[in-house]
Amino acid sequence: ETVINQIAAGEVIERPASVVKELVENALDAGATRVEIVTAGGGLNLIRVVDDGSGIAASDLPLAVARHCTSKLSDDIHDIRSLGFRGEALPSIGSVARLTIRSRTADATEAMEIVVEGGRIAGPRPAAANAGTQVEVRDLFFATPARLKFMKGERAESTAISDVVKRIAVAFPTVRFTLTGADRTRLELAAEADDEVGRLHRLAKVLGDEFPKNALAIDAMREGVRLTGQVSIPSFTRANALQQYAYVNGRPVRDRQIAAAIRAAYADVLPRDRHALAALFFSLDPALVDVNVHPAKADVRFRDPGLVRGLVIGSIRQALANAGM
Ligand code: ADP
Ligand code: MG
Repeated sequence: ETVINQIAAGEVIERPASVVKELVENALDAGATRVEIVTAGGGLNLIRVVDDGSGIAASDLPLAVARHCTSKLSDDIHDIRSLGFRGEALPSIGSVARLTIRSRTADATEAMEIVVEGGRIAGPRPAAANAGTQVEVRDLFFATPARLKFMKGERAESTAISDVVKRIAVAFPTVRFTLTGADRTRLELAAEADDEVGRLHRLAKVLGDEFPKNALAIDAMREGVRLTGQVSIPSFTRANALQQYAYVNGRPVRDRQIAAAIRAAYADVLPRDRHALAALFFSLDPALVDVNVHPAKADVRFRDPGLVRGLVIGSIRQALANAGM
Protein backbone atom coordinates (compact mmCIF):
# COMPACT_ATOMS: atom_id res chain seq x y z
CA GLU A 1 0.00 0.00 0.00
CA THR A 2 2.81 2.42 0.86
CA VAL A 3 4.53 1.55 -2.41
CA ILE A 4 1.29 2.13 -4.35
CA ASN A 5 0.96 5.49 -2.63
CA GLN A 6 4.57 6.35 -3.46
CA ILE A 7 3.92 5.57 -7.11
CA ALA A 8 0.81 7.74 -7.03
CA ALA A 9 2.88 10.41 -5.28
CA GLY A 10 5.23 10.41 -8.25
CA GLU A 11 2.27 11.55 -10.36
CA VAL A 12 0.61 13.98 -7.97
CA ILE A 13 3.54 15.31 -5.96
CA GLU A 14 6.25 16.45 -8.30
CA ARG A 15 7.77 19.11 -6.07
CA PRO A 16 6.96 21.20 -2.98
CA ALA A 17 4.69 23.50 -5.00
CA SER A 18 2.48 20.49 -5.83
CA VAL A 19 1.99 19.86 -2.11
CA VAL A 20 1.08 23.51 -1.55
CA LYS A 21 -1.40 23.37 -4.43
CA GLU A 22 -3.12 20.25 -3.07
CA LEU A 23 -3.28 21.56 0.51
CA VAL A 24 -4.56 25.00 -0.47
CA GLU A 25 -7.19 23.45 -2.76
CA ASN A 26 -8.33 21.25 0.13
CA ALA A 27 -8.64 24.32 2.36
CA LEU A 28 -10.74 26.09 -0.28
CA ASP A 29 -12.90 23.01 -0.81
CA ALA A 30 -13.52 23.09 2.95
CA GLY A 31 -14.90 26.63 2.61
CA ALA A 32 -11.96 28.42 4.24
CA THR A 33 -11.99 32.22 4.35
CA ARG A 34 -8.38 32.39 5.59
CA VAL A 35 -5.50 30.29 4.35
CA GLU A 36 -2.06 30.65 5.93
CA ILE A 37 0.92 29.01 4.30
CA VAL A 38 4.33 28.73 5.92
CA THR A 39 7.31 27.10 4.24
CA ALA A 40 10.96 26.49 5.02
CA GLY A 41 13.76 25.27 2.79
CA GLY A 42 11.75 25.91 -0.36
CA GLY A 43 9.05 23.66 1.08
CA LEU A 44 11.37 20.66 1.33
CA ASN A 45 11.89 21.09 5.08
CA LEU A 46 8.43 22.35 5.97
CA ILE A 47 5.08 23.22 4.44
CA ARG A 48 2.30 24.18 6.82
CA VAL A 49 -1.17 25.17 5.65
CA VAL A 50 -3.66 26.38 8.23
CA ASP A 51 -7.29 27.08 7.34
CA ASP A 52 -10.51 28.09 9.06
CA GLY A 53 -12.63 25.74 6.98
CA SER A 54 -15.11 23.05 7.99
CA GLY A 55 -12.50 20.82 9.65
CA ILE A 56 -12.46 17.04 9.54
CA ALA A 57 -14.52 15.03 12.01
CA ALA A 58 -12.44 12.74 14.25
CA SER A 59 -13.99 9.63 12.72
CA ASP A 60 -13.10 10.86 9.20
CA LEU A 61 -9.43 11.58 9.90
CA PRO A 62 -8.23 8.03 9.11
CA LEU A 63 -10.28 8.16 5.90
CA ALA A 64 -8.68 11.44 4.85
CA VAL A 65 -5.28 9.72 4.62
CA ALA A 66 -6.62 6.52 3.04
CA ARG A 67 -6.24 6.04 -0.69
CA HIS A 68 -9.18 6.99 -2.91
CA CYS A 69 -11.19 8.25 0.01
CA THR A 70 -12.73 11.54 -0.91
CA SER A 71 -15.73 13.30 0.53
CA LYS A 72 -16.17 15.14 -2.78
CA LEU A 73 -17.09 12.68 -5.51
CA SER A 74 -20.03 13.82 -7.59
CA ASP A 75 -21.96 11.48 -9.93
CA ASP A 76 -21.16 13.54 -12.95
CA ILE A 77 -17.43 13.70 -13.64
CA HIS A 78 -17.88 16.88 -15.69
CA ASP A 79 -19.76 18.67 -12.97
CA ILE A 80 -17.00 19.00 -10.44
CA ARG A 81 -17.46 22.05 -8.34
CA SER A 82 -14.71 21.29 -5.87
CA LEU A 83 -11.04 21.42 -6.77
CA GLY A 84 -10.08 17.96 -5.50
CA PHE A 85 -11.99 14.78 -6.07
CA ARG A 86 -9.60 11.86 -6.34
CA GLY A 87 -8.67 11.28 -2.73
CA GLU A 88 -5.03 10.88 -3.70
CA ALA A 89 -3.21 13.89 -2.36
CA LEU A 90 -3.01 13.23 1.37
CA PRO A 91 -2.11 9.51 1.15
CA SER A 92 0.49 10.37 -1.50
CA ILE A 93 2.03 13.07 0.67
CA GLY A 94 1.95 10.76 3.70
CA SER A 95 3.85 8.11 1.78
CA VAL A 96 6.81 10.36 0.90
CA ALA A 97 6.99 12.79 3.83
CA ARG A 98 6.12 13.29 7.50
CA LEU A 99 2.52 14.43 7.46
CA THR A 100 0.57 15.73 10.44
CA ILE A 101 -3.08 16.70 10.15
CA ARG A 102 -4.67 18.47 13.09
CA SER A 103 -8.30 19.34 12.68
CA ARG A 104 -11.37 20.42 14.56
CA THR A 105 -14.93 20.84 13.31
CA ALA A 106 -16.97 23.75 14.66
CA ASP A 107 -19.04 21.54 16.97
CA ALA A 108 -16.20 19.34 18.27
CA THR A 109 -14.95 19.99 21.81
CA GLU A 110 -11.35 19.15 20.95
CA ALA A 111 -9.08 18.82 17.95
CA MET A 112 -7.71 15.49 16.78
CA GLU A 113 -4.40 14.76 15.15
CA ILE A 114 -3.19 12.02 12.85
CA VAL A 115 0.41 11.48 11.76
CA VAL A 116 1.62 9.63 8.66
CA GLU A 117 5.35 9.06 8.17
CA GLY A 118 6.51 7.26 5.07
CA GLY A 119 3.09 5.58 4.94
CA ARG A 120 2.90 4.55 8.64
CA ILE A 121 -0.17 5.96 10.39
CA ALA A 122 -0.30 6.99 14.05
CA GLY A 123 -3.40 8.28 15.82
CA PRO A 124 -5.91 9.81 15.72
CA ARG A 125 -5.24 11.30 19.13
CA PRO A 126 -6.46 14.45 20.88
CA ALA A 127 -4.57 17.67 20.14
CA ALA A 128 -4.92 21.40 20.67
CA ALA A 129 -6.12 23.47 17.70
CA ASN A 130 -8.70 26.02 16.65
CA ALA A 131 -11.63 25.10 14.45
CA GLY A 132 -10.38 24.32 10.96
CA THR A 133 -7.46 22.29 9.73
CA GLN A 134 -3.68 22.49 10.04
CA VAL A 135 -1.66 20.31 7.74
CA GLU A 136 2.07 20.07 8.27
CA VAL A 137 4.41 18.38 5.82
CA ARG A 138 8.01 17.93 6.95
CA ASP A 139 10.99 16.42 5.15
CA LEU A 140 9.29 16.04 1.79
CA PHE A 141 10.66 13.06 -0.19
CA PHE A 142 12.68 11.75 2.79
CA ALA A 143 11.13 8.36 2.00
CA THR A 144 12.01 8.59 -1.71
CA PRO A 145 15.58 9.96 -1.84
CA ALA A 146 15.75 9.55 -5.62
CA ARG A 147 13.06 12.23 -5.92
CA LEU A 148 15.02 14.65 -3.79
CA LYS A 149 17.78 14.71 -6.40
CA PHE A 150 15.41 16.27 -8.92
CA MET A 151 14.71 19.33 -6.80
CA LYS A 152 16.04 22.56 -8.22
CA GLY A 153 17.19 24.31 -5.08
CA GLU A 154 15.47 26.37 -2.48
CA ARG A 155 15.08 29.55 -4.48
CA ALA A 156 13.44 27.89 -7.48
CA GLU A 157 11.11 25.84 -5.29
CA SER A 158 10.09 28.97 -3.33
CA THR A 159 9.32 30.77 -6.57
CA ALA A 160 7.19 27.85 -7.77
CA ILE A 161 5.30 27.84 -4.45
CA SER A 162 4.57 31.52 -4.62
CA ASP A 163 3.45 31.16 -8.25
CA VAL A 164 0.99 28.40 -7.29
CA VAL A 165 -0.46 30.48 -4.45
CA LYS A 166 -0.83 33.57 -6.67
CA ARG A 167 -2.57 31.61 -9.41
CA ILE A 168 -5.10 30.20 -6.97
CA ALA A 169 -5.51 33.50 -5.11
CA VAL A 170 -6.63 35.31 -8.26
CA ALA A 171 -9.56 32.88 -8.51
CA PHE A 172 -10.56 33.30 -4.85
CA PRO A 173 -10.50 37.05 -4.12
CA THR A 174 -12.73 36.80 -1.03
CA VAL A 175 -10.27 34.49 0.72
CA ARG A 176 -7.38 35.94 2.72
CA PHE A 177 -4.04 34.32 1.87
CA THR A 178 -0.69 34.68 3.55
CA LEU A 179 2.50 32.99 2.45
CA THR A 180 5.61 33.16 4.60
CA GLY A 181 8.90 31.48 3.74
CA ALA A 182 11.94 31.17 5.97
CA ASP A 183 13.82 32.86 3.13
CA ARG A 184 11.84 36.12 3.63
CA THR A 185 9.29 35.34 0.91
CA ARG A 186 6.17 37.11 1.98
CA LEU A 187 2.80 37.42 0.33
CA GLU A 188 -0.13 38.94 2.10
CA LEU A 189 -3.45 39.14 0.30
CA ALA A 190 -6.34 40.61 2.28
CA ALA A 191 -9.86 39.35 1.69
CA GLU A 192 -11.55 41.36 -1.08
CA ALA A 193 -15.19 42.11 -1.76
CA ASP A 194 -17.20 39.52 -3.66
CA ASP A 195 -17.64 41.73 -6.72
CA GLU A 196 -15.84 43.06 -9.78
CA VAL A 197 -13.98 45.67 -7.74
CA GLY A 198 -12.75 42.98 -5.37
CA ARG A 199 -11.62 40.77 -8.24
CA LEU A 200 -9.71 43.61 -9.89
CA HIS A 201 -8.14 44.60 -6.60
CA ARG A 202 -6.92 41.05 -5.96
CA LEU A 203 -5.51 40.91 -9.49
CA ALA A 204 -3.62 44.16 -8.87
CA LYS A 205 -2.20 42.78 -5.63
CA VAL A 206 -0.97 39.68 -7.45
CA LEU A 207 0.19 41.22 -10.75
CA GLY A 208 1.46 44.43 -9.17
CA ASP A 209 -0.04 47.84 -8.45
CA GLU A 210 1.13 49.10 -11.85
CA PHE A 211 -0.93 46.49 -13.67
CA PRO A 212 -4.39 48.16 -13.67
CA LYS A 213 -3.12 51.36 -15.37
CA ASN A 214 -1.46 49.23 -18.01
CA ALA A 215 -4.27 46.78 -18.60
CA LEU A 216 -7.00 46.34 -21.18
CA ALA A 217 -10.30 44.69 -20.36
CA ILE A 218 -11.36 41.61 -22.28
CA ASP A 219 -15.00 40.66 -22.58
CA ALA A 220 -16.09 38.46 -25.43
CA MET A 221 -18.44 35.62 -26.19
CA ARG A 222 -18.35 33.06 -28.96
CA GLU A 223 -20.58 30.02 -29.39
CA GLY A 224 -21.35 29.69 -25.72
CA VAL A 225 -17.82 30.35 -24.49
CA ARG A 226 -17.49 33.55 -22.48
CA LEU A 227 -14.06 35.11 -22.02
CA THR A 228 -13.45 37.95 -19.57
CA GLY A 229 -10.30 39.28 -17.97
CA GLN A 230 -7.41 41.68 -18.29
CA VAL A 231 -4.32 41.76 -20.46
CA SER A 232 -1.42 44.20 -20.42
CA ILE A 233 -0.68 46.80 -23.05
CA PRO A 234 2.34 46.16 -25.33
CA SER A 235 4.58 48.55 -23.37
CA PHE A 236 3.99 46.65 -20.12
CA THR A 237 5.54 43.21 -20.50
CA ARG A 238 7.82 40.70 -18.81
CA ALA A 239 10.79 38.61 -19.86
CA ASN A 240 8.83 35.42 -19.09
CA ALA A 241 5.24 34.25 -19.32
CA LEU A 242 4.92 33.39 -15.62
CA GLN A 243 2.34 36.09 -15.10
CA GLN A 244 -0.19 34.75 -17.56
CA TYR A 245 -3.02 33.18 -15.64
CA ALA A 246 -5.94 31.26 -17.09
CA TYR A 247 -9.08 29.94 -15.40
CA VAL A 248 -11.79 27.65 -16.65
CA ASN A 249 -15.06 27.86 -14.76
CA GLY A 250 -13.22 29.33 -11.81
CA ARG A 251 -10.37 26.87 -11.57
CA PRO A 252 -6.76 27.63 -12.44
CA VAL A 253 -5.55 25.82 -15.54
CA ARG A 254 -2.37 25.63 -17.53
CA ASP A 255 -2.73 25.20 -21.21
CA ARG A 256 -0.11 25.47 -23.94
CA GLN A 257 -2.77 26.38 -26.46
CA ILE A 258 -4.01 29.34 -24.43
CA ALA A 259 -0.41 30.47 -23.98
CA ALA A 260 0.20 30.09 -27.73
CA ALA A 261 -2.97 32.04 -28.52
CA ILE A 262 -1.88 34.93 -26.26
CA ARG A 263 1.50 34.95 -28.04
CA ALA A 264 -0.22 34.96 -31.44
CA ALA A 265 -2.51 37.82 -30.41
CA TYR A 266 0.52 40.02 -29.64
CA ALA A 267 2.69 38.72 -32.49
CA ASP A 268 2.60 42.02 -34.41
CA VAL A 269 3.25 44.27 -31.42
CA LEU A 270 5.71 42.35 -29.23
CA PRO A 271 9.13 40.85 -29.86
CA ARG A 272 9.33 37.11 -29.17
CA ASP A 273 11.24 37.58 -25.92
CA ARG A 274 8.61 39.81 -24.32
CA HIS A 275 5.41 38.52 -22.72
CA ALA A 276 2.20 40.25 -21.84
CA LEU A 277 0.63 39.85 -18.42
CA ALA A 278 -2.80 38.29 -18.58
CA ALA A 279 -5.62 36.94 -16.49
CA LEU A 280 -8.17 35.20 -18.65
CA PHE A 281 -11.37 33.67 -17.29
CA PHE A 282 -13.29 31.24 -19.49
CA SER A 283 -16.81 30.20 -18.64
CA LEU A 284 -18.47 27.49 -20.61
CA ASP A 285 -20.66 24.45 -20.31
CA PRO A 286 -18.56 22.01 -18.22
CA ALA A 287 -19.40 19.25 -20.73
CA LEU A 288 -17.34 21.13 -23.35
CA VAL A 289 -14.08 20.96 -21.43
CA ASP A 290 -12.17 18.30 -19.53
CA VAL A 291 -10.14 19.79 -16.70
CA ASN A 292 -9.08 16.45 -15.28
CA VAL A 293 -6.64 15.22 -17.88
CA HIS A 294 -3.85 14.84 -15.33
CA PRO A 295 -4.20 14.51 -11.56
CA ALA A 296 -1.89 17.41 -10.77
CA LYS A 297 -0.92 19.43 -13.80
CA ALA A 298 -4.11 21.45 -14.21
CA ASP A 299 -4.15 20.72 -17.94
CA VAL A 300 -7.37 21.32 -19.83
CA ARG A 301 -8.78 19.81 -22.97
CA PHE A 302 -11.38 21.90 -24.74
CA ARG A 303 -13.88 20.11 -26.95
CA ASP A 304 -13.25 22.81 -29.54
CA PRO A 305 -9.67 24.13 -29.17
CA GLY A 306 -9.92 26.15 -32.38
CA LEU A 307 -12.86 28.09 -31.00
CA VAL A 308 -10.95 28.94 -27.84
CA ARG A 309 -7.85 29.97 -29.78
CA GLY A 310 -9.92 32.18 -32.05
CA LEU A 311 -11.68 33.73 -29.07
CA VAL A 312 -8.42 34.57 -27.30
CA ILE A 313 -6.71 36.01 -30.38
CA GLY A 314 -9.83 37.84 -31.56
CA SER A 315 -10.68 39.42 -28.22
CA ILE A 316 -7.13 40.53 -27.41
CA ARG A 317 -6.59 42.00 -30.90
CA GLN A 318 -9.94 43.77 -30.60
CA ALA A 319 -8.95 45.24 -27.22
CA LEU A 320 -5.59 46.39 -28.65
CA ALA A 321 -7.32 47.91 -31.68
CA ASN A 322 -9.90 49.70 -29.52
CA ALA A 323 -7.03 51.23 -27.55
CA GLY A 324 -5.34 52.28 -30.79
CA MET A 325 -2.47 49.82 -30.28
P1 ADP B 1 -9.54 15.01 -2.34
O1 ADP B 1 -9.28 16.46 -2.11
O2 ADP B 1 -9.32 14.62 -3.74
O3 ADP B 1 -10.87 14.56 -1.77
P2 ADP B 1 -7.35 14.61 -0.53
O4 ADP B 1 -6.43 13.45 -0.33
O5 ADP B 1 -6.75 15.90 -0.93
O6 ADP B 1 -8.44 14.14 -1.57
O7 ADP B 1 -8.18 14.81 0.80
C1 ADP B 1 -8.93 13.71 1.31
C2 ADP B 1 -10.12 14.18 2.12
O8 ADP B 1 -9.68 14.79 3.34
C3 ADP B 1 -10.99 15.23 1.45
O9 ADP B 1 -11.96 14.64 0.62
C4 ADP B 1 -11.62 15.94 2.63
O10 ADP B 1 -12.76 15.24 3.07
C5 ADP B 1 -10.55 15.84 3.71
N1 ADP B 1 -9.75 17.07 3.83
C6 ADP B 1 -8.49 17.24 3.38
N2 ADP B 1 -8.02 18.48 3.67
C7 ADP B 1 -9.02 19.12 4.31
C8 ADP B 1 -9.18 20.44 4.88
N3 ADP B 1 -8.19 21.36 4.81
N4 ADP B 1 -10.36 20.74 5.49
C9 ADP B 1 -11.35 19.82 5.54
N5 ADP B 1 -11.27 18.56 5.03
C10 ADP B 1 -10.13 18.21 4.42
MG1 MG C 1 -7.48 17.38 -2.37
